[in-house]
Amino acid sequence: MTPTPYLTDVHVQARDAARLFADKVVAPQADATEENEHIPRELFKAMGNAGYLAIRVPEADGGSGCDLLTECLVVEEISRACCGVASSMFPMLLVSSVLSRFGTPAQKERYLSGIACGEIVCSIAISEPGAGSDAAAITTTAKRQGDSYVINGSKTYITNGPDADFVMVLAYTDRSARGKGLSLFLIDKGTAGFGVARKLNKAGNKSSKICELFFQDCVVSASALLGGVEGGFRNLLAAVTNSRVTFAARSLGVAQAALDASLAYADLRSAFGRKISQFQAIHFKLADMSTQLEAARLMTHQAAWMAGQGMSIVKYAAMAKLFASERAVEITSEAVQIHGGYGYMMDAPIQRYWRDARALTIAEGTSEIQRQTIAKQLGIQV
Ligand SMILES: Cc1cc2nc3c(=O)[nH]c(=O)nc-3n(C[C@H](O)[C@H](O)[C@H](O)COP(=O)(O)OP(=O)(O)OC[C@H]3O[C@@H](n4cnc5c(N)ncnc54)[C@H](O)[C@@H]3O)c2cc1C
Repeated sequence: MTPTPYLTDVHVQARDAARLFADKVVAPQADATEENEHIPRELFKAMGNAGYLAIRVPEADGGSGCDLLTECLVVEEISRACCGVASSMFPMLLVSSVLSRFGTPAQKERYLSGIACGEIVCSIAISEPGAGSDAAAITTTAKRQGDSYVINGSKTYITNGPDADFVMVLAYTDRSARGKGLSLFLIDKGTAGFGVARKLNKAGNKSSKICELFFQDCVVSASALLGGVEGGFRNLLAAVTNSRVTFAARSLGVAQAALDASLAYADLRSAFGRKISQFQAIHFKLADMSTQLEAARLMTHQAAWMAGQGMSIVKYAAMAKLFASERAVEITSEAVQIHGGYGYMMDAPIQRYWRDARALTIAEGTSEIQRQTIAKQLGIQV
């Protein structure tokens, strides 16, 4: 990866350490985690030991106390080794940052250090069968009953759901206030009335499990409320904005893996008595892939750097997520083309990059929603 002007020496060190970790620990397990559709707890713990699961949580709360740019550098390297493993980091990074900002001392003590060291795996549950992009249209409710809340509803596409020790759930505490009456709850595995409805079978990122969850008269203590009643949406917004930048970094990782593999293959494979890299049609593809990737990286690092300077990054986070994820889809597709028939075979890693990248323009806000956000930031009434 070419250094961008946003990186300090500390960032470069963090990136190099993450690269070493990704090459030594994640990459050798990638085939197995994809094949078994399972990330062993030991791998979560190894990522935790390296400080990669609660990167932006202050050290006082058990996290690594780093900035968003460092998180991006780490996630890019993990994603380069295995985009599916990087997928499972997301709920951990997002939930830990929300918890550290809005959690009570008791909630922080209960969950934060466990997430940070990889002992506790968690999920974030917003999407529902009837509401994805339009999160305000969710129908899960949490009704106050004395010192408790009773949760009813269902959630879908929940990353880490089948293995999660607890889930951060968005639910309406006041259904009369669309978008505003939403609150967050921390619900532990094993709570009566809460469970996995069914596991889902994804096209890519197979290492990372995903499922539907059900909540049926699920009673939780009022102490499970995170960030105050009806603060749910507001509290999530800043975290989701930052998470979009990290998601852009995940896109860079899988695109870089596809580019690296394509460069190596183009130098290895011959046709018509020449290396295929010598055909202009192929080396122009490689040049374009590399150019697009560098542009995406600059946008990602710029957005992360701006966050570190305390600037508003709503527009820049959406732009970075939009641009990097769409380039990842294109770059991984071109990588399949450069590999010819071999690229389409399940034995080659290329098809995996392509399948993994395809999710990136959908999850964490679709490309259409990113464009809508950017348009709003341009002052357009949408
Ligand atoms: C791999 C993966 C992991 C995920 N993990 C999680 C998770 O851990 N937790 C969680 O809560 N959710 C998760 N999701 C769900 C994800 O956030 C949603 O899939 C996403 O927000 C889109 O919602 P939807 O699938 O309901 O699509 P819809 O909202 O139904 O959208 C369908 C299409 O309509 C378009 N569209 C919708 N509204 C507009 C509009 N206003 N203008 C223009 N076009 C529009 C969309 O862009 C899309 O192309 C995950 C999804 C995937 C694929």
